[in-house]
Amino acid sequence: MALLARFSAHSLRMQIALVFGTLVIALAVLLSLGFGELLKHRIQRDAGDSLQAVAENAGKLLATGLMQRSLEAEVLASAAMVWSAGLDSPEAQHMLARSQAMQPSNLWIGVADAQGVVRNATGGLLLGHSVAHRPWFERGLQEVHVGDVHSAQLLESLLPPTASGEPHRFVDFAAPIRIGPTTVGVLCILGGWEWTREVLEGLTPPTSVENAVELFIFDRQGQMILAPRRHGTMLQAAGQRLPEGTYINNNRDGGRLQTAVVPWLDGRRYLTAATQLQPRNAASDLGWRIVARQPVELAFAEAEHAVHMALAIGLTAALLASALAWMAARRLSEDLNALAAAASAVEENRPGRNIPAVHSNHEVHQLSQALGRMTHRLLAAREAMEEKVRLRTLELEAANRALDLQARTDALTGLLNRRGFETQMAFALALARRSTRPLSLIAVDVDHFKRVNDTYGHEAGDEVLRRLARTLEARLRGSDVIARLGGEEFVALLPDTDLEGARAIAQTLVAAMAQQRDPMVGTITVSAGVASMRNASDTGAAILRRGDMALYEAKGQGRNRVCVEA
Ligand code: GH3
Ligand code: MG
Ligand code: MG
Repeated sequence: MALLARFSAHSLRMQIALVFGTLVIALAVLLSLGFGELLKHRIQRDAGDSLQAVAENAGKLLATGLMQRSLEAEVLASAAMVWSAGLDSPEAQHMLARSQAMQPSNLWIGVADAQGVVRNATGGLLLGHSVAHRPWFERGLQEVHVGDVHSAQLLESLLPPTASGEPHRFVDFAAPIRIGPTTVGVLCILGGWEWTREVLEGLTPPTSVENAVELFIFDRQGQMILAPRRHGTMLQAAGQRLPEGTYINNNRDGGRLQTAVVPWLDGRRYLTAATQLQPRNAASDLGWRIVARQPVELAFAEAEHAVHMALAIGLTAALLASALAWMAARRLSEDLNALAAAASAVEENRPGRNIPAVHSNHEVHQLSQALGRMTHRLLAAREAMEEKVRLRTLELEAANRALDLQARTDALTGLLNRRGFETQMAFALALARRSTRPLSLIAVDVDHFKRVNDTYGHEAGDEVLRRLARTLEARLRGSDVIARLGGEEFVALLPDTDLEGARAIAQTLVAAMAQQRDPMVGTITVSAGVASMRNASDTGAAILRRGDMALYEAKGQGRNRVCVEA
């Protein structure tokens, strides 16, 4: 029962523990979420910065490579001494072969004459073919030209296959060959596209496999022109263009680098950084965008981990706080329980009950003291009230007894009146019937009392009545019942006395009155009639009537005498 109360949702301890636990959990969740968001922003910025740096570095390397190739084409084309010996001279051929040997990624180096016919080329490839309508030739006649990546046409079948097995693709570097003021031809280097891939893969270090940092190149139109092998084909097939929402850093505003989380066509979201290729010379300005990406869940793995850690710590803290609150609330709840138990004891009026002083905290201490004082006062007031009621009851009982006595007593003589006599008569009759003992009665009446009143006054008459009462009391036994039935008529009830005994007593009474002499009224005599209970069914009224009849008999025989019932 107590255990149930401890864990009940209504118990103070449980409520305090719940409130604390909930508060700390809410706080922990809010803090860890806020903290996580902050961390994510931080990480997005940091990871973005490093992604951006990778993209920038790739851009720089590519820009340098492009510039070097275009310079190479320019330098080769400017060897007028060689070209003056003829575009197809052995010296020229030697120079081209040497140049290619120094840069094997240059797949083809060739020279076309002013009409666009290939006159010299590494490996003798395409000799005699017309390239008059190729962009590199048309532009190369005017100036140094770098042409964007394109696939091979005639050369595809002539060159050895690429390492990846994909079709050959090239970037063109062309420069006009001038002898004096005359343009005699165009020199062209077809740089293998694989070179670009090597540059990019060299930049995504081995650890980048874990981090899954990948580099892409998009051309000026936003078309993907290079992607890591594992994804390239799929993304290119899906028509992946420069993802929308990607912020292109063109390095011109000098502001903070920015990255964005954007969806790619492979259905995943990536932290994406992009930078525009910064050309090292005018010819190599191809408008490429170098894009670095990293799956967002990997980029933010650390943040997620931190959020989970923070949550776990927060929840543990919440549990601890609840447990602490639970324990801290113990003293308080124990005190309150003690107060409640004491209050119940007071209510049930158990002995020794009082409100204990408790000390778990100041407020409860105050409360217990106030309750204690109140209870003390209430108990004292109740005791006083009970005492008062007890006294009042006693008084009332005494008053009732007095009233009762008054109702049964004759005021003039102090003897029983008729009502008191009837009660005693019933009692004496019952006793006599049960014990089969005799019961007798003497009816007494003052002789010629009217005269006393008339002669000496009512007061003197009263005095005669009182004297008769004293005489009856003096002459009869304590167990006898003497009453004044009204006027100057008296009756004496004699338990355990038969008719004869009663007659004898009546005679002594009559004689005693006759012997008394009052200084004022002189001698006053009385007459008496005696009757006895005849059998068990005899009634008080019948005996009294017979006693009266005997009394009248005595009056009739001359008064101052005793007559016994017939
Ligand atoms: P008898 O010998 O026949 O008994 O004559 P009596 O005069 O005694 O009888 P009666 O019944 O004629 O008169 C009774 C008188 O008692 C009448 C009344 O004035 C008087 N009396 C009755 N009660 C009291 C009382 O309380 N005090 C006094 N002083 N007189 C009383
Ligand atoms: Mg009389
Ligand atoms: Mg009378």
